[in-house]
Amino acid sequence: MLDIKNLNVSIDNKEILKDLNLEIKEGEIHVLMGQNGTGKSTLVKTISAHYDCEVTKGDIKYKDKNLLDLDVSQRANEGIFLSFQNPVEVPGVNNSYFLRTSINEKRKYHDQQELDTMEFLKLTKEELKKYDIDKKLMQRDLNDGFSGGEKKRNELIQLLLLKPDLILLDEIDSGLDIDAIKTVAKVINDLMKENKKRSVLMITHYDRLLSSIKPDFVHILKDGKIVKTGGYDLALELDKKGFENIGL
Ligand code: ADP
Ligand code: MG
Repeated sequence: MLDIKNLNVSIDNKEILKDLNLEIKEGEIHVLMGQNGTGKSTLVKTISAHYDCEVTKGDIKYKDKNLLDLDVSQRANEGIFLSFQNPVEVPGVNNSYFLRTSINEKRKYHDQQELDTMEFLKLTKEELKKYDIDKKLMQRDLNDGFSGGEKKRNELIQLLLLKPDLILLDEIDSGLDIDAIKTVAKVINDLMKENKKRSVLMITHYDRLLSSIKPDFVHILKDGKIVKTGGYDLALELDKKGFENIGL
């Protein structure tokens, strides 16, 4: 799915990621942990072609394509989705219109017929009902005045409708109450069950989400590099002891 080799990334001419290597196979769930400011968000932003991030060295292969040759829209249409740590508020852009446009752009890219308003509403209604997400969010402007929890739920709506192949989640659980965290876990687990080739790279600081998602690999990022990789037990150990007490 994704093969990152010797990746170096700068933001504002400051080197953030240094010779980072990471391979994610189809169907795998990877977790990225690390102290604040170590470059976790920079990594997922780089994969999704965020304009802040300048790749100065290295390669990223995605499904046998050279990812760095693809622009941000191509990457999205090829199935990469990033749920932002801090979703941007876009006043004046209706959320429902935004979502329908995103889906239809992806459908056009894959030579599929676009969904009309009725088809789109039917699809969203079903998904929102299944996960008990308030449909009022659809009528409002994109993230405008949304609470932290509502913004994260809106990221889930996008995930459910766009059905990406590579799901990047940047602290989707931060600021969520226990019930909302359960919804996040259910969405991810259902998407992973629905398509066994789908992969996830998620950033989190807490075990409460991982206990219901069960990652295959847990990586710890420090100084722009992955310095330790383990299984779910590494996240548990970290949760109990903290970074410093495990020598990081
Ligand atoms: P993490 O997600 O691990 O907390 P980030 O990837 O967000 O860390 O940030 C890594 C480093 O890059 C930090 O030192 C941060 O201050 C810096 N950084 C991130 N975004 C920007 C930006 N837009 N301009 C300048 N520095 C930035
Ligand atoms: Mg971050």
